[in-house]
Amino acid sequence: MNELEARRLLLSDPRHVPQELREAIAERPELAGLRDELLRLDERVRDELTRAPLPDALADRMVLGARYRSVPKVRLALAAAAAALAIALPMTFLPAYGDEVAMIDHVRESAWELRDNPGVPRNVVRASLAELGVGFTDSAIRVRHLGHCVVAGREGRHFTIDGREGVISFVVLPATDGILLADSVRKDGTVGVYERRGAVLVGAFASSTMEMAELREMLKSVLT
Ligand SMILES: [Zn+2]
Repeated sequence: MNELEARRLLLSDPRHVPQELREAIAERPELAGLRDELLRLDERVRDELTRAPLPDALADRMVLGARYRSVPKVRLALAAAAAALAIALPMTFLPAYGDEVAMIDHVRESAWELRDNPGVPRNVVRASLAELGVGFTDSAIRVRHLGHCVVAGREGRHFTIDGREGVISFVVLPATDGILLADSVRKDGTVGVYERRGAVLVGAFASSTMEMAELREMLKSVLT
């Protein structure tokens, strides 16, 4: 297991350390340091959860999470700890990883955007995407909802369309300099596929019942 893989495993769950990861930690003291840091942050966030009032940004996350799903407090605490880390740790690998996770989290947490369905004229969608240098398909897709959403601290575009198996979301986000570390992510009931297009990161998200390959085709054909 290389260091990057080890870091990603730790970030996803610092409490659960499989054998292979334990060996990687034994070889690299900085990984042990990262794990300690993650566990400390987790504790800190858990303390915050039990104390009122919450910091604003954290409170927003909690409220969004709690309103639309029932999430165990421990998982919320881990999510918040990961968010806090994106600011606290050196910017060597987290921003690129962070964008992908931030995008799928945004889609998962914005349940009202999934439901919202006033319909958006295609020329409005096209003009809005063009501001970020991304084209929009000529085919007659009906867009349900379009938002100028702030994801990972940057304003992007987020729109939804109807798919065969439920709503499909697209997110366009001005990219950081980081490389694309994951071209697909699966998180609970949601899958996401990603592409780096010059200065932006684009992603398509759907229910995990949808084939990843089909979603990837959709990303290529809808965002041109
Ligand atoms: Zn959004």
